[in-house]
Amino acid sequence: MHFVDECQMIVEAGKGGDGAIAFRREKFIPLGGPAGGDGGHGGSIIFVGAEGKGTLSDLTHQRTLRADPGANGQGMDCYGRGGKDLRVGVPLGTIVRDLGTEQLLGEITADGQELVVAKGGRGGKGNKHYVTPVDRAPRRAQQGTPGESRRLKLELKVMADVGLLGFPNVGKSTFISAVSRARPTIADYPFTTLEPHLGVVHIGDTAAGLGHTFVIADIPGLIPGASEGHGLGSRFLRHVERTRLLLHLVTITDDPERDPVADYQALRKELAQFDTALAERPEVVALSKADLPDVREAFPELQQRFRDEAGVKLHLVSAADRTGVRDLLNLLSRSSAPGSDE
Ligand code: GDP
Ligand code: MG
Repeated sequence: MHFVDECQMIVEAGKGGDGAIAFRREKFIPLGGPAGGDGGHGGSIIFVGAEGKGTLSDLTHQRTLRADPGANGQGMDCYGRGGKDLRVGVPLGTIVRDLGTEQLLGEITADGQELVVAKGGRGGKGNKHYVTPVDRAPRRAQQGTPGESRRLKLELKVMADVGLLGFPNVGKSTFISAVSRARPTIADYPFTTLEPHLGVVHIGDTAAGLGHTFVIADIPGLIPGASEGHGLGSRFLRHVERTRLLLHLVTITDDPERDPVADYQALRKELAQFDTALAERPEVVALSKADLPDVREAFPELQQRFRDEAGVKLHLVSAADRTGVRDLLNLLSRSSAPGSDE
């Protein structure tokens, strides 16, 4: 699947139904009063913030989104049924503009937040609304108004508190899956994750209004050489401009050429080349896959080397058996809270 951070589409809300011209027809009453019902309103197109969505890619399949029209009014005072609204989930951080005028229609920043991007037409009034003292049997009714229609441009700016980086296969996707409801693709080869995945982490009982929530985003594709056009780094980096904190994962691999301290320093160098502001962001570094014996054994010495060679404190974590996960989340939560200077 491709990562999509920009797309265009046409949205067409439903037309309002027409009001009806009708009269009461009853036996022995030659001229019944007007009985034309009103038309139903047209369906609107509403974007809804969807926490779990990380990209706009599902929105690119359809070039035009249409909502249902309202039904026309009927005789016997029957109202036309309203057209159903079309509700479309979009990722948090979606910025919606009118493509023609560049006017900002809104920005979706919260789960469940709604933005009407095309309002359905109004239903027309039936002929009974046109009764006057001189015209008791009006032969006119109102037409429904057209629904709004416009061309939209959507841009996605991922809003994350914590940016997750590390070499391919260090376990970034697995970590996000383990700590949130996000379900990124996990596979045993590099570049599985071609889009920044977002996970919302709940600490404490957030449902009860206690605790804290933060968003963590995978930054795939940041590899050595990325700033020279290798990998996919530059494209993704702008999505982490807003992060307050970075979580940098390193691990031990079978490859004798690789070394966690060297890996760490190589990515730091890459990051600094892309964006010095991002490189200055506070950072938490953790050795992943702590459930593996080799990793556990290497930890004390690596912790020492990270301190001596890079001046950072190395934490230990395993998404598989959850070693250190709670402590790490608490640390991230404290450090990513607004106003924190940890
Ligand atoms: P990413 O490229 O950094 O996103 O890495 P993935 O999350 O896709 O994981 C790469 C491989 O490492 C997969 O085979 C995972 O099953 C494995 N893996 C990830 N986390 C852990 C862990 O905590 N323990 C162990 N033993 N393996 C892990
Ligand atoms: Mg991944």
